Amino acid sequence: MTQTVYNFSPGPAMLPREVMEQAQAEMLDWRGTGLSVMEVSHRSKDFIEEVANRSEADLRELMSIPDNYHVLFLAGGATAQFSAIPMNLMAENQTADYVDTGQWSKKAIKEASRYGEVSVVAASQKDELVSIPSQDSWSLNSNAAYLHYTPNETIDGVEFHWVPQTGDVPLVADMSSNILSRPMDVSDYGIIYGGAQKNMGPAGIGVVIIRDDLVKTPMPTTPILYNYQVEIENKSFYNTPPTYSWYLISLVFAWLKKQGGLEAIAEHNKNKAQKLYGFIDENDFYSNGVDLSCRSLMNVPFSLANPDLDKLFLEQSAAAGLANLKGHRLVGGMRASIYNAMPEAGVDALLDFMKSFAQKNG
Ligand SMILES: *Cc1c(COP(=O)(O)O)cnc(C)c1O
Repeated sequence: MTQTVYNFSPGPAMLPREVMEQAQAEMLDWRGTGLSVMEVSHRSKDFIEEVANRSEADLRELMSIPDNYHVLFLAGGATAQFSAIPMNLMAENQTADYVDTGQWSKKAIKEASRYGEVSVVAASQKDELVSIPSQDSWSLNSNAAYLHYTPNETIDGVEFHWVPQTGDVPLVADMSSNILSRPMDVSDYGIIYGGAQKNMGPAGIGVVIIRDDLVKTPMPTTPILYNYQVEIENKSFYNTPPTYSWYLISLVFAWLKKQGGLEAIAEHNKNKAQKLYGFIDENDFYSNGVDLSCRSLMNVPFSLANPDLDKLFLEQSAAAGLANLKGHRLVGGMRASIYNAMPEAGVDALLDFMKSFAQKNG
């Protein structure tokens, strides 16, 4: 028998085992068609009803998405939206506000700056610990096309536990790595978007949830695939969508409903994160560099007191069935990504390993 492996990858991340087993069982014969879902037309009745419509209905139910929001499933992941958002939302001579809390914010800012004037209204600070400045210190522009922020910085392990208040300025959120991790009020946002490969499915596809008053004629040079009006008219079918990724997303949504929805998964996620941070905090051998007020429940970066031991830690953890704990090259150290699909047993196995590693090497 092979050893159980827990995958702590930040993305593409692990998927629920039940979902993988269902996909395996249906691989050669999807719904009695004698075909793989990979081989059927996206315009077939089966695909439209069982994947496209069902995934949208399930996402609407899971997130309680109000009727005045559209839901799109688009190729290109979150990065495509870094371009699509300014192209669709920034009118001529309009500026956009961005909050910079880490690596993904910076990428979104860099891309938006190619299309119009971007104002960085706040940035995370690093004193002893990394923190997000409170909103009263932000310099918001009341004429901005929108305010963009990154509720969870996947690389830095920094998460907002509050929602910025922007008045009439639409709030745009890159929720790639914390979408569906807990309940949130969609009506606080103008646009919520995210790549699938953290908490929803495999890479290459993303979800965009957009309030209908924000759907307008985009900049004339906008590529047709990035035009929200066109994608809405065509129900995300302007071209052939990544059908297999979309199918897996639909299975993940059904799995989430079976787990009890977002309230239940939030509880599960909180328990896992509390266990891990609790252990890191009480132990001198490990540390986390993020302020208590904005620690991520999804991505837990940590470092060893002696970085010379990093290589040994990674070798031995991998051998113990704990995969992909290496931190991002820009941050260093370790990072445990513990998205919805990570069972509590995976965190327990990680803690057991960390305890014994500290005992042997401390
Ligand atoms: C992974 C990630 C992205 C990039 O997603 P792609 O699908 O590779 O484009 C963007 N933002 C955040 C917060 C992410 O975690």
